[in-house]
Amino acid sequence: MRIVMKFGGTSVGTPDAIRRVVAIVCNVAQQHEVVVVVSAMNAPDLRTTNTLIEAAHAAAQGDSNVATLLTPRLLDLHMRAAAELSTPEECRALELQLRTMFDHINDLSHSIAVLGELTPRALDLISGQGERCNARLIAAALRSAGQKAEAVDATELIITNERYGDATPLMPETTRHSQQRLLPLLERGCVPVVTGFIGATLAGIPTTLGRGGSDYSCAILGAALDADEVWFWKEIDGVMTANPKVVPEARTLPELSYTEMAEMSYYGANVLHPKTVYPVVKRNIPIRILNTFHPDHPGTRITNAQVAGTAKAVTAIKDVSLITVGGPGMLGLTGVAARIFGAVARANVNTLLITQASSEQNICLAVMRHEAEAAVRELRCELTSDFSHQDVEHIDVLEPAVIVAVVGSGMRGTPGIAGRVFSALGTAGINVIAIAQGSTENNISLIVNASDGDEAVRVVHRAFALDAY
Ligand code: ASP
Ligand code: MG
Repeated sequence: MRIVMKFGGTSVGTPDAIRRVVAIVCNVAQQHEVVVVVSAMNAPDLRTTNTLIEAAHAAAQGDSNVATLLTPRLLDLHMRAAAELSTPEECRALELQLRTMFDHINDLSHSIAVLGELTPRALDLISGQGERCNARLIAAALRSAGQKAEAVDATELIITNERYGDATPLMPETTRHSQQRLLPLLERGCVPVVTGFIGATLAGIPTTLGRGGSDYSCAILGAALDADEVWFWKEIDGVMTANPKVVPEARTLPELSYTEMAEMSYYGANVLHPKTVYPVVKRNIPIRILNTFHPDHPGTRITNAQVAGTAKAVTAIKDVSLITVGGPGMLGLTGVAARIFGAVARANVNTLLITQASSEQNICLAVMRHEAEAAVRELRCELTSDFSHQDVEHIDVLEPAVIVAVVGSGMRGTPGIAGRVFSALGTAGINVIAIAQGSTENNISLIVNASDGDEAVRVVHRAFALDAY
């Protein structure tokens, strides 16, 4: 099999964590072709990417000393790990490379400080250095453990558009470059250790794929190399039926469909973002979510196959505001919904959930609480004349609220699911404020008061005996 696997920042945050990563990679590479994608080191006391971004912003304010102070700490972080995991020769070579890279960052910070301006392009150049350091560190550790490995900068592989800070790959070019560069390494049993998060434009200018972009890098390379599977090593035992901090009896879902995974990410289960994994989903490549700190656990396998079962998981989004626009004149008033959502979009606010009953007396929408004020301001402005005609009478905001979502594609066409959800909540004395279900029937979402949120998740989890599959 050909496997592209990604290790997140915390999975490579300490020497101990990296030791686990090395063991995992050496083990899998005995039987399979392995491409490793790494994030920057996310140490408990030093988050590399954040630190670099902070230094770049300080430079833009005229203070390049922040970079000069922080880069030795970053060098130290990487070299301390190297000292534990690599041979003295590897350490010496690595230190030379890292010193050159950090000198470059310092020079760049001075230039930014002189210019007093940080362009998105310069920020990408600086913020992506953590991945470059870490790919070199991990390749050295692998070689020191006897595994052939080579660090490869994704600037050579992932060709993107010029949208700095949030670039999108150009797949045909990326596929060509990745295959040319990586297949020969795989053929000779060498593990490429590729930088996550970064790419480069056709002209070779470094870009980044957005914060948390290493997952995206892994999926892009999985697609470009036509991998048999794409694995994401995280700090959890796969995708769970609910947040275990809220529901102690929550358990790992051994299998899930792409659709269910997407529904769950929308509703607050912080697993994989649907856009991130789109390249592999499109090619039907199976995904696994595994735990670096518990590598024997089978985790969750995600494919396009329908998995048996109705409701599979319960997720929650906290700190939500429910905005209700209502009034007697809204019945039959055409275009009012378009104007409401237009106004929310103009405020640059993302709508999480929408409901309107057929009485048409009101439209409810849920947004993140910190965005509610901006949305309401824009709504009041848009609806001024409707207020004066008394078509619209009120805009109410209920907060803090929680969206609870029950997810599972097997709910489609199965009668009684909603009934079970609501009678369980009713029995527990939890008041449901609003309800939404899309016609795909993959999920039922409801809004409850913040104080009922955790209990609602537990009640629904119990109602479907999700701990006992
Ligand atoms: N290091 C990058 C970030 O912190 C990318 C990633 O971790 O996925 O955003
Ligand atoms: Mg990260």
